[in-house]
Amino acid sequence: KDFTSDQEVRWCPGCGDYAILAAVQGFLPELGLKRENIVFVSGIGCSSRFPYYLDTYGMHSIHGRAPAIATGLTATREDLSVWVVTGDGDALSIGGNHLIHALRRNVNLKILLFNNEIYGLTKGQYSPTSHVGQVTKSSPLGSLDRPFNPVSLALGAEATFVARTMDSDRQHLTAVLRAAAEHRGSALVEIYQNCPIFNDGVFDVLKDRTEAAARILHLTDGEEVAAGDTVVVRDDQGVMTVAPRAEADPTRIVVHDPAADDPSAAFALSRLDSPDLGHVPMGIFRNVARPTYDDSLREQIASARTGEVTDADIDALLAGRDTWTVRA
Ligand code: SF4
Repeated sequence: KDFTSDQEVRWCPGCGDYAILAAVQGFLPELGLKRENIVFVSGIGCSSRFPYYLDTYGMHSIHGRAPAIATGLTATREDLSVWVVTGDGDALSIGGNHLIHALRRNVNLKILLFNNEIYGLTKGQYSPTSHVGQVTKSSPLGSLDRPFNPVSLALGAEATFVARTMDSDRQHLTAVLRAAAEHRGSALVEIYQNCPIFNDGVFDVLKDRTEAAARILHLTDGEEVAAGDTVVVRDDQGVMTVAPRAEADPTRIVVHDPAADDPSAAFALSRLDSPDLGHVPMGIFRNVARPTYDDSLREQIASARTGEVTDADIDALLAGRDTWTVRA
């Protein structure tokens, strides 16, 4: 099944959105779902034109509110695979509250956050991820705001799946999409995306082989590590030892446990890309199993409709159990 729609794509030539669209179109058949069982919901911004270009169901919705609309959809239609497409302005400024609450609730949504560190649709104002001092049309003397790190923000909200990838790395992007799709619960995928019109080259340093080798830390749970590989380690004082994986492969890798219940270690990893440290971790930071909001909601509704909820059931619910017995 080809999920390419018949709509003319209307992004600027060279926009990173094209590469992300191609990766998603190439990946969607892997889900093995009919088009009517896949929904893409977007907010407002360049990236939010995404649903037009997929032959699935979709909604180009309200600025910042895509997670809220998608929450209603996934809570009422268990049979759907629901995806949100948003940008750094849409998700982290006007939509900041909707995003963090969808993540903390663990709503079964896959949220693709295209981060180009600028407002593109409104022609080049600084966004919540623009760096301090960035000169834009709305910050002619340099932005004064400290930017959000979307991965840190998502981990702070205790999202159950958090990852970072890049528009130009089709293989890595597809692997992350695959892992997000397999995750049941909220998945936040930050995708570095080039805007050649208003913030061109902001991620070029990660696309140059030599520079990328010096900066990118490839996160792995250990399966890809072979004998003789050099890995990044942190000692008791938190000092990192960084070395190339091998002479022929300058990739630097960090072995960590994305399934760790406590997100603190993943959060510490997410802080390595501070301007002082200069490392950029890429890959899956967190992937833990937790009850989803929509599954728990359906169980409550079924219980209320078909049986009597006892005091013991309520005690169990308050104690954090996600299932309880329904008495006919
Ligand atoms: Fe892409 Fe930037 Fe053009 Fe928007 S303004 S379509 S992000 S290149």
